[in-house]
Amino acid sequence: MKLKPTSEQIKQIERTMGVCRYVYNLFIAANRDNYRDGTRSYMSGYDFSKWLNNDYRNANPGKSWIWEVSSKAVKKAVMNEDTAYKSFMKGRAGFPKFKRRNGRPVSMYLPRNNAGDLKIERHRAKLPTLGWVRFKEYGYVPCDGQALSVTVTRRAGRYFASFVFETVKATQAQPAKSEGIGIDLGIKSFAVVSDGRKYPNINHTDRMRRLKKRLKREQRKFSRKLRHRKEVTAARKTRSNLDKQRLKVQRAYMRMSNKRRDYLKKAVHEITSIQPEFITIEDLDVSGMMKNRHLSRAISECELWYFRELLERKCAVYGIQLRIAERFYASSKTCSRCGHVKKDLKLSDREYICPECGLVMDRDMNAAINLRECVKYRTAGQAGRG
Ligand SMILES: [Zn+2]
Repeated sequence: MKLKPTSEQIKQIERTMGVCRYVYNLFIAANRDNYRDGTRSYMSGYDFSKWLNNDYRNANPGKSWIWEVSSKAVKKAVMNEDTAYKSFMKGRAGFPKFKRRNGRPVSMYLPRNNAGDLKIERHRAKLPTLGWVRFKEYGYVPCDGQALSVTVTRRAGRYFASFVFETVKATQAQPAKSEGIGIDLGIKSFAVVSDGRKYPNINHTDRMRRLKKRLKREQRKFSRKLRHRKEVTAARKTRSNLDKQRLKVQRAYMRMSNKRRDYLKKAVHEITSIQPEFITIEDLDVSGMMKNRHLSRAISECELWYFRELLERKCAVYGIQLRIAERFYASSKTCSRCGHVKKDLKLSDREYICPECGLVMDRDMNAAINLRECVKYRTAGQAGRG
């Protein structure tokens, strides 16, 4: 949800994000020193908060601005680092990185403190510590739900809010309106549904190609300006030009990803609106490694996950069972009419031609039908992402 904060609210948001970054970095520095000393004793987020609010506060009277913003947001930043550091200790991730002033999107988390300080209306929302903030777009957030928390994110110089709602019990299982379906995800068509619907890969449209070109152009301009700045040192003006160009790159990127996401939203809406008894999809956890090695390149992983997440949410709303086919289910290689498994099916074969029964069918459609018929599956939410 895009926000339209006043300049006063922007100041408050930036101040809070700045403090979060400062405290986050302070926490990393403390743990890095501990780590370098070889003591390896790790200061937990809880201990750090205690130290910050007592020892540090007393020793640094000039830093009182730290306590002038939402303490909950600061606490969340500390706990994020706590998680990052723990996965480093377990060897799952690298040492947490310091956060810089520019670049990546920045978020801050504001939980509801009391019933009154987090409210949503059609065109505006009341956010903790910020007050009423107007929306730039309407209709995406339910006004009647009670939000638990909000995360405000700055991305490409713009502000967004995303709300977390109390989990509403899955709607009463309504009688399904149509039979179950299978969906095959691929490159040529992004999604092929067993009932005959096809969703082409949006990345292949002219509009997307144009947006991609624009992004490349802005990126080239950016690196040219970066080179220029290195040659002409200490010129303040080039710095601000560089920042402007960075924003342009980020906006071009955002326009592209918004376009993609809108498309996926629409597709999921259409697919689920017929309210089938169940929907079966492939297991995305293995798609990157196995059958879909080619797929992850053409459609980025995150788009697939985004699609799956949307689908999961919509299915919960409508009470549709979402089935995830078993990992080794050969949906592409099996004949959907006689069950013959064609071991030598190549990726370039656009048609499935069965040597046993003579079936000739579009490859993706064949896979979608197999997914519909698949009986070895788990249901979404049962085992998570694994
Ligand atoms: Zn066959």
